[in-house]
Amino acid sequence: MDYHADTDTWHIHPNADRQTDYLLADKLQRAAHLLQGSSALMIATGEGMAADSGLPDLRDAATFSHTWPALARQGLGFEKMTSPQAFDEHPATAWGMYGQRLNLCRATEPHAGYTLLRQWGQRMPHGCFVFTSNADGRFHKAGFPAARIYECLGSIHRLQCTTACGAHPWQTGHLHPQVDSATLEWQGDLPHCPRCGALARPNLLMIDDGQWNPIRSTQQRMLLDMWLDSTPSPLVLEIGASRAVATVRNFTRRMQRRGSPLIRINLHEANIHNPGDIELALEAKEALEAIATHLPQGG
Ligand SMILES: [Zn+2]
Repeated sequence: MDYHADTDTWHIHPNADRQTDYLLADKLQRAAHLLQGSSALMIATGEGMAADSGLPDLRDAATFSHTWPALARQGLGFEKMTSPQAFDEHPATAWGMYGQRLNLCRATEPHAGYTLLRQWGQRMPHGCFVFTSNADGRFHKAGFPAARIYECLGSIHRLQCTTACGAHPWQTGHLHPQVDSATLEWQGDLPHCPRCGALARPNLLMIDDGQWNPIRSTQQRMLLDMWLDSTPSPLVLEIGASRAVATVRNFTRRMQRRGSPLIRINLHEANIHNPGDIELALEAKEALEAIATHLPQGG
């Protein structure tokens, strides 16, 4: 999207997916006004927030096949490799897949939209809280306080035991994955639980996952509930949360019922003609940067 200062208008790049939003400039202005007048900011994000960071969305079967064609050739499809079954039946490959993704998460930086969100939250008297289905650790990396982040699907930067031995999920800092790029197999000893010695796995909520250890996520959720007790109707800024991952959308709806105003940023699933809320059919980073130009000092 380009801003044309001479006519004070936004021109959206030609894209077959997009409807023309004739009210876009007005909505950006209203979004900026809401941000300036709010005392607390609830940031609720889904996979669209991470897409701009160059990380593929692996909860989508087509993206999975495109990212790891070698697995598809071995008959190891999306459903099998994104469930705990993968660590039981193909541990070296499952670990290779996650090791490669961990390396990618560590190597890429959060985009400029994260910095804008952090700055906006810092200016508000009650600050901000993040509710995210992204397991990539971007908000931690962008400098948000750990006590203000709820990762509802867990984190790729934490491991857990594959048995219920009672070990608390632990950090991946000591792990330096070496992965064979041709076979996608983990090289060297597979990570094990420091408490009982059983195979470890990422502390991510996978598909059909009866083994996920939710203790860390539950603790984060308790901190969120405490924050919401003191800030009952924060402004909700929902970004890139598709209907397919209903957790974030459901949370947004609950917040609306509590009286929170909503700004929704969603390239494919915004209803741009809804007069009740501010809905922007844009990508995460471009929408946040566009709102910033309507704020004093450009953000
Ligand atoms: Zn264990």
